[in-house]
Amino acid sequence: MHMSQLRTAMRILEENGHFTSAAALLLAAVSKVPLAMIERAVVLSKRRNWLHFPWYPKSRGGAFVLGEKVYVSDHFVQPNEDPSLRFLLLLAHEVGHLPHADQWGISPWGRAKFVLWATGHYARSSLLNGRHGHRKARIEQEAERGRWVLSELIRINRPSLEELLRTKDGMAAWLSQQRSMLKELHAKYPGWTLTGA
Ligand SMILES: [Zn+2]
Repeated sequence: MHMSQLRTAMRILEENGHFTSAAALLLAAVSKVPLAMIERAVVLSKRRNWLHFPWYPKSRGGAFVLGEKVYVSDHFVQPNEDPSLRFLLLLAHEVGHLPHADQWGISPWGRAKFVLWATGHYARSSLLNGRHGHRKARIEQEAERGRWVLSELIRINRPSLEELLRTKDGMAAWLSQQRSMLKELHAKYPGWTLTGA
């Protein structure tokens, strides 16, 4: 299934699994991933993928990126809980992996090479960093930028994301008001710290 079938208060995805224009603008601004790359991406349920990802900590139960597809676990959403904000924050991290996958192209061979490359990254990092291997891997540090910047922006400004995500123009206007704040947050991004793990 497409993750868009989830009932979320915030409009994040279109019916076809692509990001809405407003969500794409927001995610590009917080992650620094090129907008076009985010617009091409499609978010799907993890069940549709046959690959096993041995490095992925089960406790995080989140998502992974393959080519232009972001696979999200459909059981990360708890019943009776509005998953919007958690979902948006998770996606703000995952889009950070699109440039990693993009280096290898979207052909089956490219995707296979990406998996091997990423596995190598995590394997080396586990050797160096033990149980924090996943989190300390360089590609994780890079991908975490979007989630960190977005959470800071929410903490500081308390925007009504539900409202902002309704229209592309509204989001664009708000993001341009936030330009200097975004610049400041990007400069302050500390990498993925281990506190609060
Ligand atoms: Zn990641």
